[in-house]
Amino acid sequence: MTRHLITSAIPYINGIKHLGNLVGSQLPADLFARYQRARGNEVLFLCATDEHGTPAELAAAKAGIPVADFCAEMHEVQARIADGFRLSFDYFGRSSSPQNHKLTQHFAGKLAEAGLIEEVIEKQVYSNADGRFLPDRYIEGTCPNCGYENARGDQCENCTKQLDPTDLIDPRSAVSGSTDLEVRETKHLYLTQSKMRDRLNAWIDSKSDWPVLTTSIAKKWLNDGDGLRDRGITRDLDWGIPVRKGDAPWPGMEGKVFYVWFDAPIEYIAAAQEWVDAGKGDDWQRWWRTDKGADDVRYTQFMGKDNVPFHTLSFPATIIGSDEPWKLVDYIKSFNYLNYDGGQFSTSQGRGIFMDQALEILPADYWRWWLLSHAPESSDSEFTWENFQASVNKDLADVLGNFVSRVTKFCRSKFGETVPEAGTYGVDEDRLITELTTRIRAYETNMENMEVRKSAQELRAIWSAGNEYLQEAAPWSTFKTNPDKAAAQIRLALNLIRLYAVLSSPFIPDATDTLMSAMNTLDTEWPTDVAKALCALPKGHEFSVPENLFSKIDDAQCEDWGNRFSGIRS
Ligand SMILES: [Zn+2]
Repeated sequence: MTRHLITSAIPYINGIKHLGNLVGSQLPADLFARYQRARGNEVLFLCATDEHGTPAELAAAKAGIPVADFCAEMHEVQARIADGFRLSFDYFGRSSSPQNHKLTQHFAGKLAEAGLIEEVIEKQVYSNADGRFLPDRYIEGTCPNCGYENARGDQCENCTKQLDPTDLIDPRSAVSGSTDLEVRETKHLYLTQSKMRDRLNAWIDSKSDWPVLTTSIAKKWLNDGDGLRDRGITRDLDWGIPVRKGDAPWPGMEGKVFYVWFDAPIEYIAAAQEWVDAGKGDDWQRWWRTDKGADDVRYTQFMGKDNVPFHTLSFPATIIGSDEPWKLVDYIKSFNYLNYDGGQFSTSQGRGIFMDQALEILPADYWRWWLLSHAPESSDSEFTWENFQASVNKDLADVLGNFVSRVTKFCRSKFGETVPEAGTYGVDEDRLITELTTRIRAYETNMENMEVRKSAQELRAIWSAGNEYLQEAAPWSTFKTNPDKAAAQIRLALNLIRLYAVLSSPFIPDATDTLMSAMNTLDTEWPTDVAKALCALPKGHEFSVPENLFSKIDDAQCEDWGNRFSGIRS
């Protein structure tokens, strides 16, 4: 038995995520976690909300509630939606947890002890009216380059010129609009990542099984001037983890917090502590400390490609720099982008389908199947309503749903709702078993390698093989001349339904539950021996005909939804 630690990139607290975010990390991570559990392996699957930083503060201010309350509410919203999509986190934590406070302060203390923290005096814009320092992007003004009036202090989005806040003409606070701004000196802590270059290089070189894409992105950032520059790990904000050196105060850093980029990934570890403290687990160290049993853990991270440099360099710099025996990632599975109907998903413009809206229209399995079978792995992929309709109607309704419906209804009409007892399997059944064995082994290999689309293709082929068998065996004809043979054919087909339920569970878990319940069995044993698996439901075993497994999507629905999601989210 292998032990799998699995994390998905943690979603920012501010707002509900769209389907492109879902398929870029949480959903494939869930697929892998469910598969490993189905194979009998021990899994710890963690995710969390990323709650600190200025965007959360401003969103809370806009909503007129304290930021801590805003985050607590939004965490519940995201947790409920994740549950709706059947994301099977062992724990869904919060980066604002007391556990993460303590652990982040601990790491900062260790990095300071290792000589990897420097104090730097910076000049930053202070807003007297707001009573706070403003991050560059929260200062607005007129672009000196193109005259655009709403340029941000870090960049003009009209002409894309990179700016310093002091470049802006008539600068004002984006928080209050106040022009009463001044430049003040402030002290910050920097993590001297540049001192870690050799150690990070050696670590990346040791990852011979990483995809070239991941390694090349990491190496580019490692060796380019900008990639591994020393980075500030503190901010002048109220909302965040107070700067402390482990358990001790950090003189001169009073009133400051850690920068969100520093504390967010540490939450991967803190979430395991939260899992234990919530009474859901009993030992987090055997997953995260290589001196406490984690050296045989296989740790896989799932994320969008834009997150790769951060997870191959910055977070490992924190871990390696601490000189403590923390578990480092073994494999990074990254994704390209999902586009929406000829353009990009856009959170700011409300373009595309958001997770809550998706579940209002259709159950989770419909979305899970389409998203995973079209996962943006080797290149970007695109959601269109036509493609979604075709995929749901063909794969789920025609291939899988129709098979289940035909077999169970035919059996009920000729043999009753029990597995028929007569007849024996013959050459046709042996041939099917041979084909299924080959396909299931291929499915396992693809799932092990996290080849999401290939896995979906193989699963679809496994469903199709059952349909082809049924079409050729034609028990409805056989029954007229040889009812015993028809009984054996239907017995096999009923067993195929259980086998499909087990194999499909990582992709469409609700359908699996429906099928297992209809087949009246708790036997979720993986079909390592296909012949044996096709005898799992014994002769005379009672079952029931399930409700229609998947409804087809009609053209009118497609058109209606296409219109609804093309514009601005209300
Ligand atoms: Zn400009």
